[in-house]
Amino acid sequence: MGRLRDLKKATEAYWADKISRDELLAEGKRLRLEHWKIQKDAGVDVIPSNDFAFYDQVLDHHQLFGTVPERYSKYNLNPLDEYFAMGRGLQKEGIDVPSLEMVKWFDSNYHYVKPTLQDNQEFKLAAQPKPVAEFLEAKAAGITTRPVLLGPVSFLTLAKADRDQTVDPITLLEKLLPLYVELLAQLKAAGAEDVQIDEPVLVFDLAEKSKAAFKPAYEKIGALGAQGPRITLATYFGDIVHNIDVLADLQNLHSIHIDLVRNPEQLDTVVAALGPKQVLSAGVVDGRNIWKTNFKAAIEKVENAIQKLGKDRVIVATSSSLLHVPHTLASEKTLDAEVRDWFSFAVEKAAEVVVIAKAVTEGPAAVREQLEANAKSVQARASSPRTNDPAVKARQAAVTPEMHNRKSAFPERYAEQTKTLKLPLFPTTTIGSFPQTKEIRIQRNKFTKGEITPEEYEKFIEKEIQEVVKVQEELDLDVFVHGEPERNDMVQYFGERLTGYVFTTHAWVQSYGSRCVRPPIIVGDISRPAPMTVKESKYAASISPKPMKGMLTGPITCLRWSFPRDDVHQSVQAQQLALALRDEVVDLEAAGIAVIQVDEPALREGLPLRTGEARVAYLKWAVDSFKLSTAGVTDGTQIHSHFCYSEFQDFFHAIAALDADVLSIENSKSDAKLLKVFIDEAYPRHIGPGVYDIHSPRVPTEQEIKDRIEEMLAYLTPSQLWANPDCGLKTRGWPETKAALTAMVNAAKYFRQKY
Ligand code: GLN
Ligand code: ZN
Repeated sequence: MGRLRDLKKATEAYWADKISRDELLAEGKRLRLEHWKIQKDAGVDVIPSNDFAFYDQVLDHHQLFGTVPERYSKYNLNPLDEYFAMGRGLQKEGIDVPSLEMVKWFDSNYHYVKPTLQDNQEFKLAAQPKPVAEFLEAKAAGITTRPVLLGPVSFLTLAKADRDQTVDPITLLEKLLPLYVELLAQLKAAGAEDVQIDEPVLVFDLAEKSKAAFKPAYEKIGALGAQGPRITLATYFGDIVHNIDVLADLQNLHSIHIDLVRNPEQLDTVVAALGPKQVLSAGVVDGRNIWKTNFKAAIEKVENAIQKLGKDRVIVATSSSLLHVPHTLASEKTLDAEVRDWFSFAVEKAAEVVVIAKAVTEGPAAVREQLEANAKSVQARASSPRTNDPAVKARQAAVTPEMHNRKSAFPERYAEQTKTLKLPLFPTTTIGSFPQTKEIRIQRNKFTKGEITPEEYEKFIEKEIQEVVKVQEELDLDVFVHGEPERNDMVQYFGERLTGYVFTTHAWVQSYGSRCVRPPIIVGDISRPAPMTVKESKYAASISPKPMKGMLTGPITCLRWSFPRDDVHQSVQAQQLALALRDEVVDLEAAGIAVIQVDEPALREGLPLRTGEARVAYLKWAVDSFKLSTAGVTDGTQIHSHFCYSEFQDFFHAIAALDADVLSIENSKSDAKLLKVFIDEAYPRHIGPGVYDIHSPRVPTEQEIKDRIEEMLAYLTPSQLWANPDCGLKTRGWPETKAALTAMVNAAKYFRQKY
């Protein structure tokens, strides 16, 4: 993205017709050069190229292999616009195509565009392949790079058949391979001695056909011999021990890269499986988190590999690409010196790789100063009062199993809740936020800059809450919300009110396309010095007789959408967050809030990539954290939770185990059949599958919503069903929000009559 999200700014300016195509292309070129130079100046020997993308590196391969679906190619757009049309859709001058599907990249919060293939897919290498062009561009600047390609097995394994198509992408391997061979030959002819081919799917539990594809794929690629470059096969975000037999078919590759930050224990197995001349690329600098590398530990890992392979057969590297960490610590002007010294962003990580390599090749004396400073910093962090809070630890030690369970089972709770809440059948509610208007952002900005007093800001927030309450009264909704006008972001808002968190000003990472997020950083033990949301919820409840729903972000979502600590297990951090939230939940209840929603949209993204022990363990502590945060209330308080997706097939039991009284999930764009699992498993509690899509300004008709609820009733009983939108309304405008909710309330009333 560039140091100041330069690429985001340029792309968005291009989309808004504020700069020309040539200007955008020039900005891309400038950024590539700048990033190659940063690495060269740091002393990195092997510098990647073709890791730059205007939208997404996986999407680049669609144009590279000539697999652009016809609904985009038929417009004969220029290549850049065709590319953006696939990434984000295009609605302009008689053209109306939606984007390709975007999904999360492994277990990260980055989203890639899913390759989408046809039954009779033909492949054709681009006339001027981007990897070759970028290699030459770097070469012209005097920098020899190692181009990065997504490997054929990963490309096809991550791909899917286009809608209405049935092809199993991996069966297209034979057709695709000649393009890799041709591309590698072209790269070699252009002067590339080395190429990196990413096969991250090796960390998955692979289907047999994907696994079997490695042998033919790399035999073909290896057959190029001296006509081709040396190949480094890269894996990351997991270990490859369960697929280790694949390495036997990769013996003609030059080197294998593994992630030794996530899975250091795979080292011995991988080393033993290498061919006699093969090189190990040891990923020892974390590409997924912002902590300064512990040099001593990293050097030990590398020395360990050297002992077995010799110095010539080991490369020192980051664990993965640096896409997932912010650009440079140098941009952070407001971090205090103590914690600043604990961090390392992309630019700093490049320098770390060089220090580690020097330490093992030239000996520690060559980098004595750096090693000493690093040891001091690591030591300082470990013993800092900022990281350790004995009171938090004592509280964790006192957590008992009973603290995770509500006092009674759902039927008794429901009976109590009915007494106070008096809800009709098909109760209506919303997910929390109402439109975050420009005025809200302006006032928040003024408040942050000190241009208005806290009292003035509070008055403004109260006025916003009054409006949201009034609108909900007019709409005749059943369970109200305060609208979340005071929240900048659903994790940052809580982080700012908890100890143990710090915040950056420029540490953006790409989430998808031009969209970036700035995750807060968990540096130490977490606790809640004071109530975080009670004031607003209490105020909202005081101005209306309707039940007011309190609104919190759950422990797992707070953890996943932050940079977590790497010095204590994530389950410990989740439990600390859970205890802090538990206090908040209890305080809300004491303030008269009888419905409390704890959002967990990131629960699924934390699911370990492979089935088995790790997944079971994660689900245990994730579910426990949620339960710990919510179980402190009496039976009469209704606990809601919310998820922004609808596929529960593979972890339904975890969702059920949360024991939430009411779940709201996204469902309007998916098949209502997905709800079948709730009947199959005899789910006993209440559920609100979203009845309309909030991602678009389109207003649904009352009839559409009735049809949707009718479909849902095939899977859920009338007494179980709530009516609510798919998600929060913060990105919507007021007119469409009111119109859509009117349709929703009317539809719910229709069913209330009917049953
Ligand atoms: N309560 C949040 C909101 O309505 C939920 C957001 C989310 O699920 N991503 O904005
Ligand atoms: Zn949501």
